[in-house]
Amino acid sequence: MTGDLLSLDGVSVVFKIGGGLGLIGAKHVVALNDVSFTLPDKSEIVALVGESGSGKSTIARLALGLLRPTVGKIMYKGREISDWLKVDKERFRREVQSVFQDPYGIYNPYYKVDRFLYIALRKLLHINDAEHARSLIVEAMRALGMRPEELLGRYPHQLSGGERQRLMLVLALLIKPRLLIADEPVSMIDASLRAIFLENLLELKNKLGLSCLYITHDLITANYVADRALVLCHGRLVEAGKSEEVIRDPLHPYTKLLVDSMLLPDPRSVNVSSVASLDVRRLSELKPERGCVFRYRCPYAMKICEDKEPVLNDVGRDRRVACFLYSDQTISTQLG
Ligand code: SF4
Repeated sequence: MTGDLLSLDGVSVVFKIGGGLGLIGAKHVVALNDVSFTLPDKSEIVALVGESGSGKSTIARLALGLLRPTVGKIMYKGREISDWLKVDKERFRREVQSVFQDPYGIYNPYYKVDRFLYIALRKLLHINDAEHARSLIVEAMRALGMRPEELLGRYPHQLSGGERQRLMLVLALLIKPRLLIADEPVSMIDASLRAIFLENLLELKNKLGLSCLYITHDLITANYVADRALVLCHGRLVEAGKSEEVIRDPLHPYTKLLVDSMLLPDPRSVNVSSVASLDVRRLSELKPERGCVFRYRCPYAMKICEDKEPVLNDVGRDRRVACFLYSDQTISTQLG
Protein backbone atom coordinates (compact mmCIF):
# COMPACT_ATOMS: atom_id res chain seq x y z
CA MET A 1 0.00 0.00 0.00
CA THR A 2 1.45 3.40 -0.96
CA GLY A 3 1.49 6.26 1.55
CA ASP A 4 2.62 4.04 4.42
CA LEU A 5 6.11 3.96 5.81
CA LEU A 6 5.95 0.34 6.93
CA SER A 7 3.14 -2.11 6.36
CA LEU A 8 2.62 -5.75 7.23
CA ASP A 9 -0.14 -7.38 5.24
CA GLY A 10 -1.31 -10.81 6.44
CA VAL A 11 2.18 -11.77 7.61
CA SER A 12 2.78 -15.23 9.05
CA VAL A 13 6.13 -16.74 9.95
CA VAL A 14 6.54 -20.46 10.55
CA PHE A 15 9.85 -21.90 11.74
CA LYS A 16 10.84 -25.54 11.35
CA ILE A 17 12.62 -26.88 14.39
CA GLY A 18 14.60 -30.12 14.63
CA GLY A 19 14.09 -33.09 12.32
CA GLY A 20 16.63 -35.28 10.57
CA LEU A 21 17.47 -35.62 6.89
CA GLY A 22 14.70 -34.14 4.79
CA LEU A 23 13.44 -32.58 8.05
CA ILE A 24 11.48 -35.75 8.91
CA GLY A 25 10.13 -35.29 12.40
CA ALA A 26 10.60 -31.50 12.30
CA LYS A 27 8.21 -29.43 14.39
CA HIS A 28 6.55 -26.33 13.03
CA VAL A 29 6.41 -23.31 15.28
CA VAL A 30 4.15 -20.46 14.27
CA ALA A 31 5.96 -17.30 15.37
CA LEU A 32 3.51 -14.90 13.71
CA ASN A 33 -0.01 -15.61 12.52
CA ASP A 34 -1.70 -13.32 9.99
CA VAL A 35 -0.40 -10.02 11.38
CA SER A 36 -1.36 -6.79 9.61
CA PHE A 37 -0.62 -3.21 10.65
CA THR A 38 0.81 -0.02 9.20
CA LEU A 39 3.02 2.82 10.27
CA PRO A 40 1.87 5.86 8.30
CA ASP A 41 4.42 8.09 6.62
CA LYS A 42 4.56 10.60 9.48
CA SER A 43 6.69 10.93 12.58
CA GLU A 44 5.37 8.46 15.12
CA ILE A 45 6.58 6.04 17.79
CA VAL A 46 4.59 2.81 17.76
CA ALA A 47 5.08 0.36 20.61
CA LEU A 48 4.85 -3.33 19.88
CA VAL A 49 4.09 -4.89 23.25
CA GLY A 50 3.97 -8.49 24.45
CA GLU A 51 5.66 -11.13 26.58
CA SER A 52 8.75 -13.05 25.53
CA GLY A 53 7.86 -15.39 22.70
CA SER A 54 4.94 -13.28 21.47
CA GLY A 55 6.60 -12.63 18.10
CA LYS A 56 7.83 -9.07 18.67
CA SER A 57 11.45 -9.72 17.73
CA THR A 58 10.35 -11.70 14.67
CA ILE A 59 8.65 -8.50 13.47
CA ALA A 60 11.89 -6.56 14.14
CA ARG A 61 13.84 -9.03 11.98
CA LEU A 62 11.23 -8.85 9.22
CA ALA A 63 11.29 -5.03 9.22
CA LEU A 64 15.08 -5.03 8.96
CA GLY A 65 15.03 -7.49 6.08
CA LEU A 66 16.82 -10.16 8.14
CA LEU A 67 13.94 -12.58 7.70
CA ARG A 68 11.29 -13.13 5.04
CA PRO A 69 7.67 -13.89 5.86
CA THR A 70 6.41 -17.41 5.17
CA VAL A 71 3.13 -15.87 4.01
CA GLY A 72 2.13 -12.24 3.42
CA LYS A 73 3.94 -9.06 2.51
CA ILE A 74 6.11 -6.63 4.41
CA MET A 75 6.62 -3.31 2.66
CA TYR A 76 8.71 -0.22 3.30
CA LYS A 77 7.52 2.90 1.46
CA GLY A 78 5.23 0.83 -0.71
CA ARG A 79 7.86 -1.64 -1.89
CA GLU A 80 8.52 -5.12 -0.53
CA ILE A 81 11.60 -5.18 1.67
CA SER A 82 13.05 -8.13 -0.24
CA ASP A 83 12.84 -5.89 -3.32
CA TRP A 84 14.61 -3.01 -1.56
CA LEU A 85 17.45 -5.35 -0.67
CA LYS A 86 17.84 -6.38 -4.29
CA VAL A 87 17.45 -2.96 -5.88
CA ASP A 88 18.64 -0.32 -3.38
CA LYS A 89 20.10 -2.06 -0.36
CA GLU A 90 22.34 0.85 0.60
CA ARG A 91 19.45 3.32 0.80
CA PHE A 92 17.32 0.82 2.76
CA ARG A 93 20.15 0.21 5.26
CA ARG A 94 20.60 3.97 5.67
CA GLU A 95 16.88 4.69 6.10
CA VAL A 96 16.02 1.76 8.39
CA GLN A 97 18.32 1.51 11.40
CA SER A 98 18.16 -0.63 14.52
CA VAL A 99 18.89 -0.51 18.22
CA PHE A 100 18.94 -3.87 19.96
CA GLN A 101 18.66 -4.95 23.59
CA ASP A 102 22.42 -4.95 24.07
CA PRO A 103 24.28 -3.60 21.06
CA TYR A 104 27.57 -5.06 22.33
CA GLY A 105 27.47 -7.65 19.53
CA ILE A 106 27.36 -4.89 16.90
CA TYR A 107 30.61 -3.30 18.09
CA ASN A 108 33.92 -4.86 17.14
CA PRO A 109 35.56 -5.47 20.56
CA TYR A 110 39.00 -4.67 19.08
CA TYR A 111 37.92 -1.25 17.75
CA LYS A 112 37.47 1.86 19.86
CA VAL A 113 33.92 3.21 19.64
CA ASP A 114 35.10 6.21 17.57
CA ARG A 115 36.28 3.85 14.87
CA PHE A 116 32.94 2.05 14.89
CA LEU A 117 31.20 5.41 14.31
CA TYR A 118 33.72 6.49 11.60
CA ILE A 119 33.17 3.24 9.70
CA ALA A 120 29.38 3.70 9.82
CA LEU A 121 29.74 7.29 8.52
CA ARG A 122 32.07 6.16 5.75
CA LYS A 123 29.88 3.26 4.65
CA LEU A 124 26.47 4.88 4.93
CA LEU A 125 27.21 8.58 4.25
CA HIS A 126 30.50 8.27 2.30
CA ILE A 127 32.29 10.63 4.67
CA ASN A 128 35.97 9.78 4.26
CA ASP A 129 37.57 12.74 6.01
CA ALA A 130 38.35 11.58 9.58
CA GLU A 131 38.50 15.16 10.96
CA HIS A 132 35.11 15.99 9.52
CA ALA A 133 33.68 12.69 10.80
CA ARG A 134 35.02 13.39 14.28
CA SER A 135 33.52 16.87 14.41
CA LEU A 136 30.11 15.46 13.37
CA ILE A 137 30.34 12.74 16.03
CA VAL A 138 31.29 15.22 18.75
CA GLU A 139 28.45 17.54 17.74
CA ALA A 140 25.89 14.69 17.73
CA MET A 141 27.05 13.44 21.13
CA ARG A 142 26.77 16.91 22.65
CA ALA A 143 23.32 17.34 21.08
CA LEU A 144 22.19 14.24 23.01
CA GLY A 145 23.79 15.42 26.26
CA MET A 146 26.82 13.10 26.13
CA ARG A 147 30.44 13.97 26.89
CA PRO A 148 32.62 13.00 23.94
CA GLU A 149 35.82 13.53 25.97
CA GLU A 150 34.73 10.77 28.37
CA LEU A 151 33.52 8.24 25.81
CA LEU A 152 35.57 8.57 22.65
CA GLY A 153 38.83 6.66 22.69
CA ARG A 154 37.31 3.82 24.69
CA TYR A 155 36.63 0.21 23.76
CA PRO A 156 33.03 -1.08 23.85
CA HIS A 157 33.64 -3.18 26.98
CA GLN A 158 34.78 -0.03 28.81
CA LEU A 159 31.32 1.54 28.42
CA SER A 160 28.16 0.69 30.34
CA GLY A 161 25.22 -0.94 28.54
CA GLY A 162 23.38 2.40 28.69
CA GLU A 163 26.32 4.28 27.15
CA ARG A 164 26.57 1.75 24.33
CA GLN A 165 22.82 2.14 23.72
CA ARG A 166 23.01 5.93 23.68
CA LEU A 167 25.86 5.75 21.16
CA MET A 168 23.44 3.89 18.87
CA LEU A 169 21.17 6.95 19.12
CA VAL A 170 24.18 9.17 18.32
CA LEU A 171 24.63 7.04 15.23
CA ALA A 172 20.94 7.54 14.39
CA LEU A 173 21.34 11.31 14.77
CA LEU A 174 24.30 11.17 12.37
CA ILE A 175 22.74 8.87 9.77
CA LYS A 176 19.23 10.37 10.10
CA PRO A 177 17.22 7.22 9.36
CA ARG A 178 13.54 7.46 8.50
CA LEU A 179 12.64 4.44 10.63
CA LEU A 180 14.27 3.13 13.78
CA ILE A 181 13.59 -0.43 14.92
CA ALA A 182 14.30 -0.47 18.66
CA ASP A 183 14.06 -4.00 20.10
CA GLU A 184 13.90 -3.95 23.93
CA PRO A 185 16.41 -1.06 23.95
CA VAL A 186 16.15 -0.27 27.67
CA SER A 187 15.57 -3.66 29.26
CA MET A 188 19.24 -4.15 30.14
CA ILE A 189 20.13 -0.66 31.30
CA ASP A 190 19.73 0.85 34.73
CA ALA A 191 16.87 3.15 35.66
CA SER A 192 18.69 6.52 35.38
CA LEU A 193 20.12 5.83 31.93
CA ARG A 194 16.80 4.32 30.85
CA ALA A 195 15.03 7.65 31.34
CA ILE A 196 17.82 9.53 29.52
CA PHE A 197 17.70 7.05 26.63
CA LEU A 198 13.92 7.49 26.30
CA GLU A 199 14.29 11.29 26.39
CA ASN A 200 16.95 11.03 23.66
CA LEU A 201 14.62 8.87 21.59
CA LEU A 202 11.86 11.49 21.86
CA GLU A 203 14.38 14.22 20.92
CA LEU A 204 15.35 12.25 17.82
CA LYS A 205 11.70 11.89 16.86
CA ASN A 206 11.18 15.64 17.20
CA LYS A 207 14.50 16.72 15.64
CA LEU A 208 14.62 14.30 12.73
CA GLY A 209 10.93 13.53 12.31
CA LEU A 210 11.78 9.84 12.41
CA SER A 211 9.39 7.02 13.16
CA CYS A 212 10.19 4.22 15.53
CA LEU A 213 8.89 0.72 16.10
CA TYR A 214 9.54 0.45 19.82
CA ILE A 215 9.49 -3.22 20.78
CA THR A 216 9.06 -3.96 24.46
CA HIS A 217 7.52 -6.19 27.11
CA ASP A 218 7.14 -3.10 29.28
CA LEU A 219 3.95 -1.05 28.98
CA ILE A 220 5.31 1.72 31.20
CA THR A 221 8.12 2.75 28.89
CA ALA A 222 5.74 2.19 25.95
CA ASN A 223 3.32 4.64 27.50
CA TYR A 224 6.17 7.10 28.11
CA VAL A 225 7.39 7.30 24.52
CA ALA A 226 4.82 5.80 22.16
CA ASP A 227 1.94 7.44 20.32
CA ARG A 228 0.27 4.12 19.54
CA ALA A 229 0.49 0.61 21.00
CA LEU A 230 0.03 -2.75 19.30
CA VAL A 231 -0.33 -5.74 21.61
CA LEU A 232 0.90 -9.15 20.46
CA CYS A 233 -0.01 -12.45 22.11
CA HIS A 234 1.35 -15.78 20.81
CA GLY A 235 2.08 -14.26 17.40
CA ARG A 236 -1.38 -12.67 17.02
CA LEU A 237 -2.18 -8.98 17.15
CA VAL A 238 -4.87 -8.75 19.84
CA GLU A 239 -5.26 -5.03 20.52
CA ALA A 240 -4.29 -1.74 18.89
CA GLY A 241 -4.91 1.90 19.75
CA LYS A 242 -3.44 5.09 21.14
CA SER A 243 -0.95 4.00 23.77
CA GLU A 244 -2.42 6.08 26.60
CA GLU A 245 -5.92 4.68 25.89
CA VAL A 246 -4.72 1.09 25.62
CA ILE A 247 -2.93 1.40 28.95
CA ARG A 248 -5.56 3.48 30.78
CA ASP A 249 -8.45 1.35 29.55
CA PRO A 250 -7.23 -2.02 28.24
CA LEU A 251 -9.95 -4.04 26.51
CA HIS A 252 -8.38 -7.39 25.66
CA PRO A 253 -7.99 -9.68 28.72
CA TYR A 254 -4.32 -10.22 27.76
CA THR A 255 -3.66 -6.46 27.70
CA LYS A 256 -5.39 -6.25 31.08
CA LEU A 257 -2.98 -8.87 32.40
CA LEU A 258 -0.02 -6.84 31.12
CA VAL A 259 -1.41 -3.62 32.61
CA ASP A 260 -2.11 -5.33 35.96
CA SER A 261 1.52 -6.39 36.14
CA MET A 262 2.71 -2.78 35.93
CA LEU A 263 3.94 -1.59 39.31
CA LEU A 264 4.63 2.11 39.17
CA PRO A 265 3.81 4.81 36.64
CA ASP A 266 7.33 6.24 36.47
CA PRO A 267 9.76 4.67 33.98
CA ARG A 268 12.69 5.84 36.12
CA SER A 269 11.69 3.70 39.06
CA VAL A 270 9.73 0.75 37.71
CA ASN A 271 11.01 -2.79 37.81
CA VAL A 272 10.97 -3.54 34.09
CA SER A 273 11.14 -7.26 34.67
CA SER A 274 7.61 -7.19 36.11
CA VAL A 275 5.90 -8.29 32.93
CA ALA A 276 8.72 -10.53 31.80
CA SER A 277 8.44 -12.47 35.02
CA LEU A 278 4.90 -13.56 34.27
CA ASP A 279 4.54 -17.27 33.71
CA VAL A 280 6.22 -17.30 30.31
CA ARG A 281 8.60 -20.25 30.67
CA ARG A 282 5.92 -22.61 29.46
CA LEU A 283 4.49 -20.08 27.02
CA SER A 284 4.46 -22.42 24.01
CA GLU A 285 2.70 -25.12 26.06
CA LEU A 286 0.06 -22.54 26.98
CA LYS A 287 -0.75 -21.83 23.36
CA PRO A 288 -3.91 -23.65 22.25
CA GLU A 289 -3.92 -25.51 18.95
CA ARG A 290 -7.13 -23.79 17.90
CA GLY A 291 -9.52 -21.09 19.03
CA CYS A 292 -8.37 -17.92 20.77
CA VAL A 293 -4.63 -17.92 21.49
CA PHE A 294 -5.23 -16.60 25.01
CA ARG A 295 -8.07 -18.90 26.06
CA TYR A 296 -6.05 -21.13 28.45
CA ARG A 297 -5.25 -18.12 30.60
CA CYS A 298 -8.37 -16.06 30.02
CA PRO A 299 -10.83 -15.73 32.91
CA TYR A 300 -13.64 -14.85 30.48
CA ALA A 301 -13.17 -17.74 28.01
CA MET A 302 -16.44 -18.94 26.46
CA LYS A 303 -17.41 -21.91 24.29
CA ILE A 304 -16.91 -19.92 21.09
CA CYS A 305 -13.31 -19.14 22.16
CA GLU A 306 -12.46 -22.88 21.94
CA ASP A 307 -13.67 -23.23 18.37
CA LYS A 308 -12.97 -19.96 16.63
CA GLU A 309 -10.20 -17.43 16.48
CA PRO A 310 -11.36 -13.86 17.02
CA VAL A 311 -10.31 -11.30 14.41
CA LEU A 312 -9.36 -7.69 15.03
CA ASN A 313 -12.52 -5.57 15.04
CA ASP A 314 -12.92 -1.81 15.19
CA VAL A 315 -14.36 -0.94 18.58
CA GLY A 316 -13.98 2.83 18.49
CA ARG A 317 -11.95 5.57 16.93
CA ASP A 318 -8.41 4.23 16.30
CA ARG A 319 -9.13 1.24 18.54
CA ARG A 320 -9.21 -2.42 17.53
CA VAL A 321 -9.44 -5.58 19.58
CA ALA A 322 -9.51 -9.30 18.77
CA CYS A 323 -11.79 -10.79 21.42
CA PHE A 324 -15.28 -12.28 21.32
CA LEU A 325 -16.24 -10.11 24.29
CA TYR A 326 -16.34 -7.23 21.79
CA SER A 327 -17.74 -9.06 18.79
CA ASP A 328 -21.26 -9.22 17.33
CA GLN A 329 -20.47 -12.83 16.42
CA THR A 330 -20.60 -13.80 20.11
CA ILE A 331 -24.06 -12.36 20.54
CA SER A 332 -25.46 -14.11 17.45
CA THR A 333 -23.79 -17.42 18.46
CA GLN A 334 -25.17 -17.21 21.97
CA LEU A 335 -28.64 -16.35 20.70
CA GLY A 336 -28.36 -19.49 18.57
FE1 SF4 B 1 -10.82 -14.55 26.39
FE2 SF4 B 1 -12.44 -15.49 24.52
FE3 SF4 B 1 -11.64 -12.97 24.44
FE4 SF4 B 1 -9.95 -14.95 23.90
S1 SF4 B 1 -11.77 -14.38 22.72
S2 SF4 B 1 -9.54 -13.18 25.16
S3 SF4 B 1 -10.63 -16.51 25.37
S4 SF4 B 1 -12.93 -13.91 25.99
